Amino acid sequence: MAKRFCALCGKTDAPLVENLCYTCYFKKNPPFSIKNEPEIRICPNCFSYKLSKKWVQTKSSNHTDFLEQAISQVLSLLIKHSPEFEITVQPQITEEMELTDKIEVPVLITAKKDDIVISETLPVTINIESSPCGVCTGKRRGAFEAILQFRGLRGRISEEEKQQVYDIIDKTLCLERYKDAYISEIKEKKQGFDVYVSSIGLAKSIATSAKELMGANLQESFKISGMKDGKRQGKISLSVRLPSFSVGEIVQTPDKTIIFEKIEKGNPIGKNPETGERSVIQYKELWESEIQSWKPETKEYQIISITENFLQLMDLKTYEITEIKKEAPHTNLKEGETVKAIKIDEKIIILTPEPENQ
Ligand SMILES: [Zn+2]
Ligand SMILES: [Zn+2]
Repeated sequence: MAKRFCALCGKTDAPLVENLCYTCYFKKNPPFSIKNEPEIRICPNCFSYKLSKKWVQTKSSNHTDFLEQAISQVLSLLIKHSPEFEITVQPQITEEMELTDKIEVPVLITAKKDDIVISETLPVTINIESSPCGVCTGKRRGAFEAILQFRGLRGRISEEEKQQVYDIIDKTLCLERYKDAYISEIKEKKQGFDVYVSSIGLAKSIATSAKELMGANLQESFKISGMKDGKRQGKISLSVRLPSFSVGEIVQTPDKTIIFEKIEKGNPIGKNPETGERSVIQYKELWESEIQSWKPETKEYQIISITENFLQLMDLKTYEITEIKKEAPHTNLKEGETVKAIKIDEKIIILTPEPENQ
């Protein structure tokens, strides 16, 4: 009896369909088909494409990369194939491609089922439809859900603080969960600036970072601004007040005085000017009590004499001599030494020298 063999490849030990082994059969009769001239909708302003009903934003920064992702995703949905085959679609884009209305792209399609692998490169003509995605439409309309009002504790915000806030905004916008969110506008104001934010979530996230990193005080007000599709459209405004302390400034609460250094987890930290000890003003204390802050004038004195109870100091600019009470932090001072001092409430406070100056 004649052995049955595949009419194309000659394989003998395989089951045959229409005189062909499975691999040869499916090569002749591909288990998939592509719709003629499929359409891909892309946003002309950002690298996003529409996948069935939703817009997908890619991380691409060039057309080649972007088209590869968009085509492979969209075609995967558009390809008709026998369900037992697993299909992968790999567009073969080799050079920088112009985004015209119609592009022709060789697409490598691989169908896999158990040990049968059929791959074929087909030239596919794709219609490119260009229309702004939801995010870009919103941006263009200036749509926003929240306004962040950044204000300084003393009626102004420094350039430095503004930069810090901008850095926070940039970092937050990079988070995956805010990939579709955006800032629609930033308006400069006399006492600070207003940031118009596309989503309440993003606004709150920025405000929380400003609280933790800059010690900001947050106050939310919710405003209903109308109805849309039978739903209440809420917009909120969040007031973000920044403490606006600069390094070296005296910050005083009713029972604490520090020379401001930095903010950690929302709490201002600095040195107690008299003892040099590190001291923390709690966030709650900062915003709920009477706070004063000012840039102290630092003067240089020479210690003329030290007695049991007094120190005699000479102002090195005016040569004026002053006597102050000797206190615990003064123990290590020596006659003839030059010290820096500031005045708080008419009291001369000798600053403990920075470690590197010792
Ligand atoms: Zn064969
Ligand atoms: Zn877009």
